[in-house]
Amino acid sequence: MGNDVLCQVCRGVLPASEREAYTTSRSRLILSNGYCPGGCVQERAAAPVQVPQAQVAPAPLPVRPVARAR
Ligand SMILES: [Zn+2]
Repeated sequence: MGNDVLCQVCRGVLPASEREAYTTSRSRLILSNGYCPGGCVQERAAAPVQVPQAQVAPAPLPVRPVARAR
């Protein structure tokens, strides 16, 4: 118990959904470590390997339908 309180990435205090989670020791951790901004684990899971941005090809330009009035 206790590992779920802190974010594994930024060591910040994770937001708790249960009211019982807000204890004195927890508030101390918030004062010392601060809150986790969120998204740390998601970012880590989304990009386990750093892929160079050059791999991402730019989106093709939208092809405009040739409107010939005549
Ligand atoms: Zn975090």
